[in-house]
Parts: sequence; C-alpha cells; structure tokens
Amino acid sequence: MFKDCKTPTRRSAIQLHVKTILNRIQHFAGFVYREVRFRDHGCSLHIDIHLEAHACSDGRCATCLKPAPGYDHQSERSWLFPPLWNIPTHFHYAPRRVQCPEHGIGVEHIPWSAGKRPVTIPMMVFLARWGRRLSWRETAQAFQTSWEAVYRSVDWLVQWGLGQRKLEGVEALGVDEIHWGQGLRSENFLTVVYQIDAHCRRLLWVGPRRTQASLRRGLVALGPEVLRGLRFVCSDMWQPYLRVLAAMVPHALHVLDRFHITSHLNEAVDEVRRAECGRLRGRPQAAKLKHMRWKLLRRGSRVRGHAKQKLQGLLRTKLATARAWMLKETFQGFWHYRSLTWAAAFLDVWCERALRSRIEPLRKVARMLRSHEELILNWFRAKGEISNGPVEGLNNKIRVITRRSYGFRTYHAMETALYHNLGRLPEPELTHSFC
Ligand SMILES: [Zn+2]
Repeated sequence: MFKDCKTPTRRSAIQLHVKTILNRIQHFAGFVYREVRFRDHGCSLHIDIHLEAHACSDGRCATCLKPAPGYDHQSERSWLFPPLWNIPTHFHYAPRRVQCPEHGIGVEHIPWSAGKRPVTIPMMVFLARWGRRLSWRETAQAFQTSWEAVYRSVDWLVQWGLGQRKLEGVEALGVDEIHWGQGLRSENFLTVVYQIDAHCRRLLWVGPRRTQASLRRGLVALGPEVLRGLRFVCSDMWQPYLRVLAAMVPHALHVLDRFHITSHLNEAVDEVRRAECGRLRGRPQAAKLKHMRWKLLRRGSRVRGHAKQKLQGLLRTKLATARAWMLKETFQGFWHYRSLTWAAAFLDVWCERALRSRIEPLRKVARMLRSHEELILNWFRAKGEISNGPVEGLNNKIRVITRRSYGFRTYHAMETALYHNLGRLPEPELTHSFC
C-alpha cells in the first residue's frame, strides 16, 4: 500500500483514496479491496472495485457460517454497489467453493451478496430507502438503474424484514378494506390488518379481496400467539369481517369505530345530495346544492367563512340534503358521552329520528347502526384504550401510496410497496448508511 502511495502518477493516488474510504466505511472481515479502477466506455464511466479473499483466512460455509477448507474457485462475478460520485460502481470477486464437513461442497458465504442477485446488499438497501422517498421510476432514473432493479431491491428488503420482524405486544388490531384500481369487482379490494396500539401503528398484513377467506388468511398469518394476545379489534360493519372476527378472536373486544361510522354517514349525505341534484335540475333551488359536496362532508364546526354562509343558506331550505346533513351533524354528539347508558339512549333516539325521516340512505344507516348496536357501544367500553385516528391515518397513507405513480405492474409490486412504506419492518444493519 505504501508503494502505491509513493508512486508519482495521479491515478494511483486516487486508487488509494477510494480504498481508504472503502476500508473505513465498508470493511468485510476476511476480504480485502485489491484495486479500484476506472472503466471508460466511450461516454459512460464506471468504477470497478476488485475484491479478494484475505490470504490467511478460510472461506465460510454459506449455511453454517463456519470456516471451511477451500475446494476451488468459481469464475468472477460482479455486483452493483452504491454509486460513488454518482458513477455506477461494481464489486468484482471470484467466489471460492468450500468443503464444509457438515454441509458438503458449496459456494462460500459472501457478506455483501444475497443469493444470485447481481446487486450488493448495501445497494439494495440504498435503492429501497430512496424508493420510499421517491417513486421507483424516479429512483431508477436518479441512480442510473432500472425500475426492475429498484423493485427487486425493495422486495428483497421487505422479505428480509418480514422474516425478521417481531410481533410481540400486539394488543389492538384494525381490520379494513381498501379499494384499489378501477371498478368495483372483488379484485379491486384489498384486506388490510393493522396494529393500532398507541406505541406502534403499522401494517401487519395485506392480501387480495375482502372475503372471509382473505381475512382468515391474514389472521392465520399472524399466528396463534398474536391472536391470543389481542384485547381490541376494530373494524368496519362489513359482514364477512364481522363473522371471521367473532369466530377467530372471540376474546377481544370488538369495536366499530368512529371513523367508519362517520364515513357511512357521509356517504349517505352524499347520496341524498346527488339524488336531489338530479331531481331539481333546472329549477332555482338547484343552485343551493351547487359546489356543496365538500362543505357537506366536513364537520359543521370546521366549515368557516363564505362556505359557512352558503351552508346556512342551504340549511334554511326544506331540501332533503339539508335535513340529512342535520341528522349527520347531530350524530357527532354521540361520541362525547361518557356514560354507556346515555350513549345507548342517544343512539336509540337518533335511530328513531332517522328512521322517521323518510330519507332512505339515512334510514339504511340507522338500520345498520341498530343491528350492530352492541359493537358500536363497545367503543365506549374501550374508550381511552384505543384512539380513533389510527385506522383513518393508515388508510389515507395507503391511498397516497397506491395512487402515487410507482408504475405498479403487478399486484405483488403494490403489496411490496405497502409493506415497505407502512410495515415498519426491520432492516439489516450495515456498517455505513449511504442515505
Ligand atoms: Zn456448513
């Protein structure tokens, strides 16, 4: 190394420099960096880093990681490494085959390599981390690689994380359906299972469709230990889920949460508005309903200024939309009760009013609330133990991810992106963080 240092040419000075950095940030026990070279391909520049085994250390068996006597050499392989100065950089190394007394002859353990992948582990982690901040296409462009390479890197990291993650202390589970893509066929829905404990909110499982079988698969995947430890389960009033949860986690308190009930009410108000818009087309009253969609969906206390005046104008009319909105708005009072008895009484009175309103979408919600009264009142029994935001928050994030232009080509790619962004999966420890 000293010899290199004294050589007067500029190239070897650069060589020494890169090697010093590599030894400092990315040292692999039993291996040495032999040389670092530029490779000039016309207009494109590459950096080649050649590694070799340390002269006095044996290769390790890939299965048991114990040193084993050498057998022979394979031909040289190359792996993509995080770019240096954004110049594509490759590792080159000729793997040894070792003869393990226990596992026989096999290729040695190579610490930067995962199976036959042509990308080093640091590079896969590097691409996957950037793939969380940018879309996969943007990541590929920024680091001069392909969409496939980014996808495979994320996939590898997710599989690694799923294999290593610990599912201890999961007490509250949220179950939900997510709409994906276009159309309302069963393939356009996903079933998601979240952990919604205050100390940890994450995606635990995602699978296609929203059937009983989907949720059953998800719960089975979590394992019997996790299911036994559950204290709360939150879900929507979707019948297949209710059935599976009652059968598989009967000991947990099943809560129909605020977020889902509010969204059912909002959908009902919106349905009334749309129907009424159609009926009133061309008449002067129709103007009152124009551009009102978001104002009606928002909580009344959050509508301000000009929007508030318009909303009040609408409420003075005798339109069904106005009455539907009033019913939705009064329901907010339900969530403020402290006593279970009073909450139950409120629910009863509200349902009575809604059923007499002659507004069909709201009568439908009232019937639904009535038939799930016990599960709704569980919200008060669990009060203080589970907050009402997490499912909504996680759902919103899922929407952002599924809509963001990752250019998902397959269902599996989308599933991988969801685990990658919301799973809080563990990552392998690296000696250096490249990003
Ligand atoms: Zn072995």
